[in-house]
Amino acid sequence: MPKRKKYVYFFGGKKAEGKAEKKALLGGKGANLAEMVNIGLPVPAGFTITTEVCTYYYENKKKYPKELKDQVVAALKKVEIEMGAEFGDPKNPLLVSVRSGARASMPGMMDTVLNLGLNDVTVQGLIEKTNNPRFVYDSYRRFVQMYGDVVLGLKPVHKHDEDPFEVILEKKKHDNGFKLDTELTADHLKELVHEFKTAIKEKTGHDFPENPMDQLWGSVGAVFGSWMNERAIVYRKLNNIPAWWGTAVNVQSMVFGNMGEDSGTGVAFTRDAATGENVFYGEYLFNAQGEDVVAGTRTPLPIAKLNEEAPVIYKQLDGIRKILEKHYKEMLDIEFTIQQGKLWMLQCRVGKRTGFAAIKMAVDMVKEKLIDKEEALRRIEPNQLNQLLRPIFDLDQKRKAIEEGRLMAKGLNAGPGAASGKVALSAQDAELMAANGDPVILVRIETSPEDIKGMDASEGILTARGGMTSHAALVARQMGKVCVAGCGALRINYRERKITVEGKENIVINEGDYISIDGSTGEVIQGKIETKPSEVIQVVLTKTLEPKQSDTYQTYESLMKWADSYRKLGIRTNADQPDQALNAIAFGAEGIGLCRTEHMFFGGDRIMSVRKMIVSETKEDRKAALDELLPLQREDFYGIFKAMNGYPVTIRTLDPPLHEFLPSTEKDIRELAEELNIPETKLVEKIHSLHEFNPMLGFRGCRLGILYPEITEMQARAIVEAAVNAALEGIKVKPEIMIPLVGDLNEFRMQEKIVRRVAAEVFKEKGKKVNYLVGTMIELPRACVTADKIAEGAEFFSFGTNDLTQTTFGFSRDDAGKFLPLYVQDEILPTDPFETLDKNGVGELVKMGTEKGRSTRHDLKVGICGEHGGDPSSVEFCHKVGMNYVSCSPFRVPIAKLAAARAVVNELTNKHKPTVRTKKKSITKKKVAVRKKAVAKKKK
Ligand code: PEP
Ligand code: MG
Repeated sequence: MPKRKKYVYFFGGKKAEGKAEKKALLGGKGANLAEMVNIGLPVPAGFTITTEVCTYYYENKKKYPKELKDQVVAALKKVEIEMGAEFGDPKNPLLVSVRSGARASMPGMMDTVLNLGLNDVTVQGLIEKTNNPRFVYDSYRRFVQMYGDVVLGLKPVHKHDEDPFEVILEKKKHDNGFKLDTELTADHLKELVHEFKTAIKEKTGHDFPENPMDQLWGSVGAVFGSWMNERAIVYRKLNNIPAWWGTAVNVQSMVFGNMGEDSGTGVAFTRDAATGENVFYGEYLFNAQGEDVVAGTRTPLPIAKLNEEAPVIYKQLDGIRKILEKHYKEMLDIEFTIQQGKLWMLQCRVGKRTGFAAIKMAVDMVKEKLIDKEEALRRIEPNQLNQLLRPIFDLDQKRKAIEEGRLMAKGLNAGPGAASGKVALSAQDAELMAANGDPVILVRIETSPEDIKGMDASEGILTARGGMTSHAALVARQMGKVCVAGCGALRINYRERKITVEGKENIVINEGDYISIDGSTGEVIQGKIETKPSEVIQVVLTKTLEPKQSDTYQTYESLMKWADSYRKLGIRTNADQPDQALNAIAFGAEGIGLCRTEHMFFGGDRIMSVRKMIVSETKEDRKAALDELLPLQREDFYGIFKAMNGYPVTIRTLDPPLHEFLPSTEKDIRELAEELNIPETKLVEKIHSLHEFNPMLGFRGCRLGILYPEITEMQARAIVEAAVNAALEGIKVKPEIMIPLVGDLNEFRMQEKIVRRVAAEVFKEKGKKVNYLVGTMIELPRACVTADKIAEGAEFFSFGTNDLTQTTFGFSRDDAGKFLPLYVQDEILPTDPFETLDKNGVGELVKMGTEKGRSTRHDLKVGICGEHGGDPSSVEFCHKVGMNYVSCSPFRVPIAKLAAARAVVNELTNKHKPTVRTKKKSITKKKVAVRKKAVAKKKK
């Protein structure tokens, strides 16, 4: 006889039919209840109806499998035996709860019914049993109310509707002159039960079911039904939970924390979920139900107090905490109830935690030998490291600010961390205000290279326009500044020196007023919020804290060591200045993957020489201007080689469209005209002549050096001279000269020729040679497609995925902020492709470029220097593609390290998974091969 399918799993006493591994079948709640029983914890007996029943229910016009009824009755019998009470018994009634429980937690999304089993007869039995009529009638009226709402649908439909039961309850209190529910007596509650039932009859035409079995099936149906309610559907969509998973239903004996002063209830975490400290953390209330603890009507007590009030129970609970952690090897979130002095466990699940706590707990658990290093790496999301590396807001203050309506708007979370300061609306003001000792937030419609010094002086940068790779975003990250970019709701009025917010007329921020920005969430908040500095930064960068004084630093250090021992990808940094490079080294970077030379053009008064160079009419004039720049650039490069001391340094020749360097204000134009000794009108004409409709696709990248070879010459000379000078002092150097925006081998060849000629000249002049490479950025789809050709010349590739994303999608990286947020919101794209690499499109090009490049040059060094080099999922992709390294802004180095290690750990995990599909695949391959052969035969 075929075995009957099992739809119901009993738990209780010493043995459960389910276990934790059966989460898919029993849901998280059911599986963990079973597991707690199996490890000997006190759990009120019950049973779980599987998720398969839910699936069946929806596939079969809301009918149950025929075996279900008998299995429920049998399981209920076991529960009755275990609890020593009977369902529907007039003297000794068993009451149960009916709750949902999906594979993934969906808090509050589905329905629950409590105190089920009460009717006009059993209520008497319970009164006799407890000798507490008020408690019993309160439970009864709650049950009727819940059942009426959840099962019989008596609930507000429109947002203006009132809850019909609350109306009756309020009237009862009002008629008796009461303010609180607790003032109602047993008689009042009894009357309420009657009035509730009358309302149900009036509104639905049905009587409230007195038969407990009917109540049970009604509730089970309602819980399965709630899997498809609107809330649950939306939640599933947001959290990628498939509808076919279904929910289980848990039917469990009720235990009561409100049966008197020897009863109580509480919730707790086995460790502190905010700090990760290994301390028992939670709250409880005596003579209360679960909802009283969370509702905030009474102030719960800290769990440590339980040790004073009920030491025996506390000891038992603390023991359970240890058993659970040892068993699950995780921090758990638990719910418990004490009924007349007896402790019962009602729930356990993996506890939610802050990023800070996640890291501390994972590292501590390795040290406690609960988990191994691989598991620790698996548990920590790389971006959680931001909570260790960046300043964070005082959470209470932030919450309060938002409650007070001070949240102004939300932009892109472009540079993580928290900053609070006085608004400066220009870079110059930012510098002045910072010089006065004020913390500053620089607020601009967008930033340009001219703003660099002001950005450096500020705590944070906020822009109204621009995306994740806008100037503001990438420079801020490189500097380690907090940044919110593309906050489109802001109206920044430079003339009136104020900011207003679209749709929030009450908010006006004047220059000098405080605002606070959260670069991890994109929130912009009016007023000041205290921030807390990162201990890791105090140890690693500012050296204001000793490593041994900081537990947080030690946690960070352990994690980084483990990440280093697993990762295969090299980690470099994008840095243009020695101080940025040193920061990155302190975080463990192994080289510079991108030094954007143009960022050096704004230091001191070198911008004047750059401008002279741009507006020059003749080659001689241009050369003269370049001669002014040569020693300055040489010094910059020398500083970087010195800081990097033997690590490779990739320096890119000039890339951006020239208009970015030209003066825009009348004053600057006048000054430049004077300096050049030409009429102002002539200069204005020249500036206009340089205007381009599409500068990003215009005169930029290697095209600059092709039309003006003297620029490349000067830069190559500055790099090679600096390298030789450093080498002569005994500093190890590894220069890598990188030609940007190449689309054809010939472009590369022309630039390479200049570089090699100049290098040879310098070596001869100095009588000293150094090894160097000449490579290219891959930023154009054509470069990927012709990568095999380009690799004939280029000694390395670095994928510039900012531009590659721009040129592949045809999205302007400066203007996409107008429509990309909507694309993401409406799920046209899963994420902002400037933030996370678009693996199917841009990623395919990256893969093709790497493979084609290496088909020509097997040892081709391949890296990435677009902003994606610091994005965890993009880093994992780079690992899979087989890149040699990723390069990211200095503060993202630890994040990239962890992401690179996790890429290896994930590979190991997948390797150990049973490969059920491989067989199938090889069969398919075989089939394809046979088919191909047949087709080939036909062709012949
Ligand atoms: C890129 O395009 O990815 C890149 C790194 O260069 P930039 O951002 O300077 O254009
Ligand atoms: Mg680029």
